[in-house]
Amino acid sequence: MAFGLPACSILGKLHDVKFVVQVRLFPTPAQEAALADTLRLCNEAANVVSRIAWEINTFRNYDLRRHTYSALKEMGLSAQPAQHVIKKVADAYTTVRAQVKAKLREALMRPIGFRCDAAQPFDDRCLSWQIPARTVSLWTTHGRTKGIRFGCSDEQARLLAAYRRGESDLVHRDGLWLLIATCDAPDTDVTDPDAFIGVDLGIANIATTSDGVKHAGKALNAVRHRNRQLRRKLQAKRTKSAKRLLKRRRRAEARFARDINHRISKSIVTEAARTGRGIALEDLSGIRERVRLRKPQRVTLHSWSFHQLGSFIAYKAARAGVALVRVDPAYTSQECSACGHVDKRNRPDQETFVCMSCGFAEHADVNAARNIAMRGVAGWAAVMQPNAA
Ligand SMILES: [Zn+2]
Repeated sequence: MAFGLPACSILGKLHDVKFVVQVRLFPTPAQEAALADTLRLCNEAANVVSRIAWEINTFRNYDLRRHTYSALKEMGLSAQPAQHVIKKVADAYTTVRAQVKAKLREALMRPIGFRCDAAQPFDDRCLSWQIPARTVSLWTTHGRTKGIRFGCSDEQARLLAAYRRGESDLVHRDGLWLLIATCDAPDTDVTDPDAFIGVDLGIANIATTSDGVKHAGKALNAVRHRNRQLRRKLQAKRTKSAKRLLKRRRRAEARFARDINHRISKSIVTEAARTGRGIALEDLSGIRERVRLRKPQRVTLHSWSFHQLGSFIAYKAARAGVALVRVDPAYTSQECSACGHVDKRNRPDQETFVCMSCGFAEHADVNAARNIAMRGVAGWAAVMQPNAA
């Protein structure tokens, strides 16, 4: 299919697109002790804040600060870390609140707990990067700890220098010290597209495009299935080695999913750039309702993976100057992409779409992707309206 782009005008900047750069720290023994003490104290403090929040039934950042700030100062936290601890707790409750329908205290039964090595955010006042020297200095409970070495590739260093903004998370995982830096994607001028590639997300096919390209989820689903079974078997044992094995498998699964998401997003963005089209992606805020699975942890797993794929596509599209719109996914699986007729019976099973009104037949995921593509055109026109006026 050829898409002519007669006069491709250049449009404004893309909206907020974020990505992360993860680097490994190589602390000396003394520095490592400072990092460990800091993480431990911050998480003890988080647990204090969480318990107070629970007792007074107050979960908002600003309100919590009033009730907990002085306690944290007494524990030895300085102003910035104390505020980050409070915000971390408030954010954790907000996340839970978004996931449950019931009242927080009924849904949770007890305050949210933080592991002693849970990630802690640091802002620029507590953490400074010396990228050419590959060192960082940060606030710790042992004072300002300077010259902690980190390792990263030249490409990562370039991204950090150019796009790092705001906070970084200090993480201790599997004996490794990591810093996960949040970056704002570069402002790229976006080409005005006159057509869109629609992307439908699912379980059997992770992503299906309106061109009919299916990115099968078979391999990933097989890995997930195997790990679930293993988990069931080993959870009964509760031995240390069983826990270690499970942890390793979980990491490997996440890496595998990440690789797949990188591959899929690259393929979709490359195709959009090549054909001068934009990308229409379903708005993922409703993904939990759309992916109807009985086991809640599976929903979490898949929605986490979908969000990652969405953010990879957003980042790569921003870099390539490809327009991206999020569309309302309601009824995309029941609507006929040929005549617009909406009917539950249009989709007799998982794979099949046959329109009750006009007889149009297509793979169900491809039909949904075509609907998303069409909504993309409308959505883009709406986005551009203010500029045109
Ligand atoms: Zn039809």
